[in-house]
Amino acid sequence: MECPVGNWTKNFLPFPSSAFSEFSITSYKRGHDDNRLKGFTHGYRLFKSNKVMKVLLHYGDEVVVKAVVQASFKVATYNVAIFINSQGEVLQGNCNCIGGIQGRCKHVFALLWYILDCVHQELSHVVEDVACTSVPRTWGRGSNKTRNLSMFDQLKFIKHEPNKHNKSTLKIIEKRNNLKDCYGSIEINSDFLRKCHNNCVNSGLNMLAESIEANGFRASTHYLSSFTAVTYSLPTEELWGEEYSNLCKNYGIEEGKQEFCKISLSLARKLQNETCLQSHSQLWFSERSKRLTASKFYAVISRQAPVTEQFINTVFTKTATFQSREMNIGLRNEAEVIRKLIDRNPNFKYIKCGVCVNPGIPILAASPDGVIYNELTNTYNLLEIKTLVKAMEHNCTIQEAMERKLCDFLVNDGENIFLKKNHKYYMQVQGQLAITGLRYCLFVVDSGKDMITLNIELDVNKWKSEWLQKLVLFYFTNFNFNI
Ligand SMILES: [Zn+2]
Repeated sequence: MECPVGNWTKNFLPFPSSAFSEFSITSYKRGHDDNRLKGFTHGYRLFKSNKVMKVLLHYGDEVVVKAVVQASFKVATYNVAIFINSQGEVLQGNCNCIGGIQGRCKHVFALLWYILDCVHQELSHVVEDVACTSVPRTWGRGSNKTRNLSMFDQLKFIKHEPNKHNKSTLKIIEKRNNLKDCYGSIEINSDFLRKCHNNCVNSGLNMLAESIEANGFRASTHYLSSFTAVTYSLPTEELWGEEYSNLCKNYGIEEGKQEFCKISLSLARKLQNETCLQSHSQLWFSERSKRLTASKFYAVISRQAPVTEQFINTVFTKTATFQSREMNIGLRNEAEVIRKLIDRNPNFKYIKCGVCVNPGIPILAASPDGVIYNELTNTYNLLEIKTLVKAMEHNCTIQEAMERKLCDFLVNDGENIFLKKNHKYYMQVQGQLAITGLRYCLFVVDSGKDMITLNIELDVNKWKSEWLQKLVLFYFTNFNFNI
């Protein structure tokens, strides 16, 4: 659409005010497929800081509003034009800034918010602008509040002692603790957020409503604690003890080395419990670092190349490893996945898990995402959650993600979806099952738009005949007992 020539006016009366609302702006924003669009909020800030100037209107088949919008921190200005039809719909926005090609830059939104402001003020004419550099400064003028003056000898002086809390700080600490309790008892789940969203819409708090919606009605992970009421003893039993001691005998492993990781069933359960309450604690790291963890099983078992020092270091990590952006998103999504899972299966109860070690084969460890207790069948299944971050960003279903190669661990035989048996996730699940003593794992794949659950069973034969010995041999050959 071309900007018309001539007949520009400041007259606002012919503007379709009754049809133009905040909805016009939000639906223009939604017309864009990029939901990370920042122009919407940034534009609002520009408008609030009086960066929209020289507004003029042209009435024809559509209303064209043009303006000069100043850049956020620079003297630069941009020419913006917006086309609006009689139904109040924004048809197009133009701006000559770098980001303005798609017509949805912050300058366009700044003008849209400006127009909305004119509508709200029921103006007959758009106001003659006063550049913000021409108005008196608004900062540093002092407050208008009247203060109650007190006499000097009435002032209370408190001697500052850094290690001693005075009564008022103690009160503040107590207050904060009380607040913690009271926040902890509110369950902020997606239902709650949907209610909030409705209330926001009804009271016209559209920006807040938008942001709740843009976050997919997802709450923070803290509420997880509210549905971890069921407790469960993990590992379920001592397993693989005979196989392990036979292997140690065959490989001639010294008693001392075998003692290094040794743990009783009750201590293993205690460890699991304590690390579940405090994941990524010192205990969590130290107990994992002396063992082979399930997430590394695939690398160890499938290794063809000679074992290098670098490889050993990645297998036995001693400290917190770097978390990629994708891992972080995946971690934050876990709570939402659990919520969805329980929404779909009301008879499911989620049980959090810590570091799990089986006393039968104490050189191995696993930290599963949790256990699902099914009230109907009275069964416990392991839970493993994988978030397809890329698919989430492209708003794909699982099927679409597989077609677009955004998911390398699933295969489709035309009818069903499976977890590839030669993928590290499969080996990780097998290890977790073998260590925890559970038979099945609910393997949940989430793309945000779509979620599937696969049922994976422990392959006892492979575990006993192949994997176990490879893991034991690798551990005793490569673990550094001297530290
Ligand atoms: Zn622009």
